[in-house]
Amino acid sequence: MRIVQIPLLRDNYGYLAVCEETGAAAVVDPSETDPVLERIDQEKIDAKAILNTHHHRDHTGGNAGILERRKLDVYGHKSDAQRIPGITRPVDEGDEITVGKERGRVFFIPGHTTGHVAYLFGKNLFCGDTLFTAGCGRLFEGTAEQMLDSLKKLKALPADTLVYCGHEYTENNLKFALTLEPGNRKLAQRMERVRAAREAGRSTVPATMAEEIETNPFLRWDSAEIKDNLRKRFPDLSLNPVSVFATVRQLKDQF
Ligand SMILES: [Zn+2]
Repeated sequence: MRIVQIPLLRDNYGYLAVCEETGAAAVVDPSETDPVLERIDQEKIDAKAILNTHHHRDHTGGNAGILERRKLDVYGHKSDAQRIPGITRPVDEGDEITVGKERGRVFFIPGHTTGHVAYLFGKNLFCGDTLFTAGCGRLFEGTAEQMLDSLKKLKALPADTLVYCGHEYTENNLKFALTLEPGNRKLAQRMERVRAAREAGRSTVPATMAEEIETNPFLRWDSAEIKDNLRKRFPDLSLNPVSVFATVRQLKDQF
């Protein structure tokens, strides 16, 4: 599968997931219409479907405009049938979807919203605003427990899984991560690479799951350094995975 990244709005990413054998493609999270349609034309692909990870406007804002010009299937979680414009294929955990000859799998990962899903095609994971490179989405509709379960599901994927998330937030996420784990050398090294990429105007997405597990504080509820830091700030906090995750999320909300 070939992945085309499309920068949209201020810091969003939409994607084209293309079956190289047939030219069939899916559009992931089109927040805008025109730049996506232009890219479909440029790439000379046959767009068959829109895959929405969740209902937020900056992931679905292009649905209506694209559907005015082309007839596509629209996938999204079944609980969001009222919130995803043009939905024709409501999906749930474990469903299989096909793009040309490529087969993908749906993961139900609530927390950022109640109806959030991810789509996995081979190594390519489209995870919207649940797992970010070096971060995770805010808990707008779900609980910390739900989000932690969702992140555990993604963390269990193979180490070489490529994390294609919904935003270019890596640098700011790493700044926050360094406040909790200044002694994590992998984290410091990643920050150097990411700064250099941003200065050169390059995208820092995707990253591998291995990199995320080593440096993303929202996947590191077992890190001794993070727990030590939280204990200093909140002496009464119990340091189980949910409370570590929830506290790190609260600190990020205030960062
Ligand atoms: Zn969102």
